[in-house]
Amino acid sequence: MTITQRPQVTAILCDLDDCLYQNHEMQYNVAENIRHYMAEHLSIDVDTVAELCADLYLNYGTTLAGLVASGYKVDYEDWHARVHGSLPYETYLHPDPALRSLLDSIPLPKWVFTNADAKHAARCLDLLGLSSCFQGVISFEEVMAEAAQQGMVHHGCPVVCKPNRQAFDIAMQLAGGLQPGTTLWLDDSARNITTGHRLGLYSVLVGRTGVACPSDQQIRSMHDLPAALPWLWQGQQPPCGIAAAAAPEGDESALPLKAAIGKPSSGKVHAKASCTDDETIEAVYAAT
Ligand SMILES: [Mg+2]
Repeated sequence: MTITQRPQVTAILCDLDDCLYQNHEMQYNVAENIRHYMAEHLSIDVDTVAELCADLYLNYGTTLAGLVASGYKVDYEDWHARVHGSLPYETYLHPDPALRSLLDSIPLPKWVFTNADAKHAARCLDLLGLSSCFQGVISFEEVMAEAAQQGMVHHGCPVVCKPNRQAFDIAMQLAGGLQPGTTLWLDDSARNITTGHRLGLYSVLVGRTGVACPSDQQIRSMHDLPAALPWLWQGQQPPCGIAAAAAPEGDESALPLKAAIGKPSSGKVHAKASCTDDETIEAVYAAT
């Protein structure tokens, strides 16, 4: 990328789960809690829970959104407390000082934008040591409150969440009036990245490369940002140590999307996945 092609990014929106950290055991535990809630508290046949969970997640954005749209009465606070509140966070999450240094070195305001509840987000950021890196967190509660105020929450749209466009509009409003064309969007979900890309945000899929979904770039980890998006440092080199540690030689996560997809697969590069494969993966780890 040349200087003239550098996006004029002035703010960053960033997902939380599986983006700022990656812990499959934790996400599996969350999925288990969701299935348990559906069987125990909503009296859904245990034999159909797994399939229904994946179906609702894929069709409504989150399992919770799908349940409510399907007519189930769900107390949001109780749902979040049982799905996230019982997690042994200290077992799964630990400080990431390298990511903290990296984020702090980017001279742009940063916001977390998550479908999860505020308590979960605060707990995760605290254990990761990243709370102070962000201007704020836009969580389930904030999006829903604003959606209700704007008249978006109604019978046909009971839960406003990613990947729906309305949730992005609200998040950008709550972050102080961000403009799509000057906002960097980071998320591990191909669906969420697809929406962001279509809205005009500079959208970077985090966690996988070679995924056939609309995006501007794809990286394996947030730690790869200095190699993939050096222009974030506004023409300056990332602070000493960050770039070298984050981008080992030959790391293909820094490649633009077209190059990443077109490159022959080696043992090191993740296999090319279709959007259908990607959605299936996401459904397994449906976070909310
Ligand atoms: Mg995520």
